[in-house]
Amino acid sequence: MTKNLDLWAAHGSHVIPVMPFMDSVLARCEGSWLIDVEGRRILDLAAGQFCTILGHGHPRFVEALQAEVKNNLHTGSQYLTECTLKALSDVAEITPSHLKKIILLSTGSEANEFALRVAKLYTGRTSTAAFDRGYYGISLATRALSSISDGHVEFSPKPQGSMQLIAPSCARCPLRLQYPSCDHACLSLSTRLIGDNADNIAAVFVEPIVSAGGMIYPTREYMQTLRRWTTDIGALLIVDEAQTGFGRCGTWFDCENLGIEPDILVFSKTSGNGYPSSGVAISERICERILDIGFSHLSSHQNDSLTAAAVSAVIRIVRDEGLRELARDNGAYFLEKLRGLESRHRNLGAVRGRGLMIAFELLRDDEHRSPWTEMLTPFVLACHARGVHVTYTYYEGAVRIIPPLNITREEIDFAIDAFDKTLAEIESGTLDAKPHAQTNPVIRGTLERSRLRRALNRMWETSPKYWMSKLKNSS
Ligand code: PMP
Repeated sequence: MTKNLDLWAAHGSHVIPVMPFMDSVLARCEGSWLIDVEGRRILDLAAGQFCTILGHGHPRFVEALQAEVKNNLHTGSQYLTECTLKALSDVAEITPSHLKKIILLSTGSEANEFALRVAKLYTGRTSTAAFDRGYYGISLATRALSSISDGHVEFSPKPQGSMQLIAPSCARCPLRLQYPSCDHACLSLSTRLIGDNADNIAAVFVEPIVSAGGMIYPTREYMQTLRRWTTDIGALLIVDEAQTGFGRCGTWFDCENLGIEPDILVFSKTSGNGYPSSGVAISERICERILDIGFSHLSSHQNDSLTAAAVSAVIRIVRDEGLRELARDNGAYFLEKLRGLESRHRNLGAVRGRGLMIAFELLRDDEHRSPWTEMLTPFVLACHARGVHVTYTYYEGAVRIIPPLNITREEIDFAIDAFDKTLAEIESGTLDAKPHAQTNPVIRGTLERSRLRRALNRMWETSPKYWMSKLKNSS
C-alpha cells in the first residue's frame, strides 16, 4: 500500500464519488505544481479548476487573504466592508467602458443565474439562447442553456424557452461547410430555427472560447454578427468570461480580442485565483431600470469581503507582474512547441489557442483523421504518471492546456516532453490502455459507470443529422 491509497482505504468510503477522482491525495500546491502526500510533484496544466491564474500559493495573494480573514471573515449582507468597496472600484477599472455597476458572488453558476435574472427583468422576456456546446453552470437554468446535460433526468424538464445556437466549430463543422465561404451558415441556420421565438429571448449567453464543449474559438466576425443579431432582436448579450477573464487570453477580458461589447459581463473562476469568486458587471442604464422595477438580490455570500480581497489581489498581481503579457508570450511558446510535436507525431493534431487557452486533439491514423476519443483517458493517465495533469473536453475530447499564467518555459518543456513520450508510446502500440494510475477501488466503480454515461452523452453530440431533422420539423 502507498500513502495515497492508505488514505483512500481509510476514508474513501465516505466520499460521494460524483466523478472519477485521481488516486493522488494532495498535500499542498505550489506555483504550477500539485504535490501529493507521497511528495510526488504533478505539473498542473489545468490551474486547479481553470482558476489559479497566479499559480498556487502566490505569496502576495495569500497575504492579502490572510489579512482580510483577520478583519472580516463574514459580515451580514446589509454591510459592505472597505475591502469590498475598493474591490468594486478595482473591477470597474478593467471592465469594458460602460459596465461599471458590479456585484461580487461566489461561483460561475450563481453569477450566470444573477445575469439571467437581470436580463429577464430588464427585457420583460423569459427565453434564452446559448451555444449548444456551451457550459454555463450546474443550476437548473444554467444547465438548460446547453445540451451538455441532455439526457440527465435530474435536470429535466428544461425551463421553457431554452433555445440553442449551433456552436461555430469550424474545425469540424456540423454543416460540413468551410470557413469563410460558409458565411457563418451555422449562425443563420440557428437564427432561422429560432424564428419568431426570438421575440421572447431575454438573453443570449456566450463563452468567448467554448471550453468544456470542445475548445472552440468563434471568429471575430461570428461574434460581431451575433452581437448585432442580439441587439436587433432586443435581447441582451451576456458574455461568460469564467475561464477567459482576468488576463488568460492576454487581455483583461477576451471580448476585447473579439471586438464585442457585452450588455452583461460575467466573470468567475479566474477572478479569485481559486478562492470562490465570481461577479457580474452591468451598465448604469440596466441597473437603473431593474431597480425601478423593484429588483433586489440577497444571498449569504454576496459582496463578501474575502472574495473582494481575492479579486483585488488578482488584479493587482496580474498588473504588477505583467501576467497578460506573459499569457501571450507563454501561449505563443506553448503553441510553437505543440506544433513541433504535431509535425513529428501523426496522432496529434488540431493544435489551437489564444493566450493560455490552448487545445490539441488525439487523432486516429485513418483517412478522415477522426478524433480518437477512446485514447483520451489512457493519454491523460499516462501523462499523470509522468507528472503532468491535463484534462479534456466533452464531444471529440480536445486536450485542454489552461495553466497558471506564470508557468515557466522549463515547465512548458517538461509538459512537452511528457506529451512526446506518451505519443511515442501510442504510436508504437505500447501505451497501456488501462494505466495503473487508477487503482483505488472507490473510484474504479465510478469509472465503469462513467464509461456508460459517456456513451449516453455521445448520443447527443451535435451532428448534421440532428440539425437537419430539426430544420425539417420547423419548416
Ligand atoms: N461558465 C463557464 C464558462 C465555466 O467554465 C464554468 C465552470 N466550468 C461555469 C460557468 C460554472 O462555474 P462554477 O462551476 O463556478 O459554478
